[in-house]
Amino acid sequence: MKLAALGEVMVELAPQAVGPAHGVDGSKPLLRQSFAGDTFNTAVYIARSGVSVSYVTLLGDDPYSDEIQSRLQSEGIDIGGIEQLPGRCPGLYMIQNSADGERYFTYWRGESPARQLFAAGTQREAVKSRLREMDCIYLSGITLAIMQSQARTELLDFLREFRGNGGRVAFDSNYRSRLWDSVEVARDVVMEFLQQTDIALFTFEDEQALWADTRPAQSLKRNCRAGIAELVLKRGPEPVLLQRDGQLSAVDVPPVPKVVDTTGAGDSFNAGYLAARLQGASPLASIAEGNRYAAQVIGYRGAIIPRAENPVHAMENSPVARTVADTAV
Ligand code: ADP
Repeated sequence: MKLAALGEVMVELAPQAVGPAHGVDGSKPLLRQSFAGDTFNTAVYIARSGVSVSYVTLLGDDPYSDEIQSRLQSEGIDIGGIEQLPGRCPGLYMIQNSADGERYFTYWRGESPARQLFAAGTQREAVKSRLREMDCIYLSGITLAIMQSQARTELLDFLREFRGNGGRVAFDSNYRSRLWDSVEVARDVVMEFLQQTDIALFTFEDEQALWADTRPAQSLKRNCRAGIAELVLKRGPEPVLLQRDGQLSAVDVPPVPKVVDTTGAGDSFNAGYLAARLQGASPLASIAEGNRYAAQVIGYRGAIIPRAENPVHAMENSPVARTVADTAV
């Protein structure tokens, strides 16, 4: 099975130590540099499961873009779908820790080459040829938010063709309001892409922010009406909901004794879920895999666990799922 993930990888600068942004003498903490991005994080964990993964994006021709490509290759991820734009460099973001332990993100990504994904003038026909070889394409609302409107239409048309030929599309709405012109535009775009989605991996918090839902049942109903056949709703430590074949099930999230940092929880859940699904596991067993991947990741600081500390385990048995009524959620 082959999966391609579409999106943006950024340079990340994070404080080395947890604590307030300023030292007592006004000094700033040392920063650790790495790379991250929602679909990138998911791609890394899927690749670690042994599924063949390609990452599709645009980068520049600077040393950081080269490092990102080496980083992907070191994870066994195919980079043949990456185009390098001359004179450009990747987006950047910084993390700040406030005194109360919250994390704040500041982005410099307006000029990111990834914004040219599927745009006219790029090598998008070559990218489409590669994508036609895939079994599954994974993208997120962040991927869509940074793309140009005409490029989104081009991608939508391509996904229609891809699904028509038997390919599957997995989508996480990952709604980030500041990346969109307005909530109305975000809703319209997400709705269009839902029509071309086979597996929706949503977080209820994002559904609340995008649609003002107050209960999971509202999200489930709307996505069901949009024609989503397989819908997974993540809710932090609350049971994960699965709506499939008109049936709603809940799978408990095993307690994690020490939650260190929830960055990348949803991304790694998606990786566990998709890796298992692509290897033939049932949706319920795949949720258990998603939970297991996320549990590991939230026990570490940062979105990506160092490779040496991230052993691949054999899949566990199917979890016990409960059938629930939508009035219960
Ligand atoms: P996101 O990272 O997109 O906000 P969630 O917070 O819903 O996503 O978390 C995704 C998954 O991570 C959950 O379904 C669960 O498996 C795991 N997870 C998140 N928070 C916790 C927690 N406090 N305890 C145990 N598991 C958690």
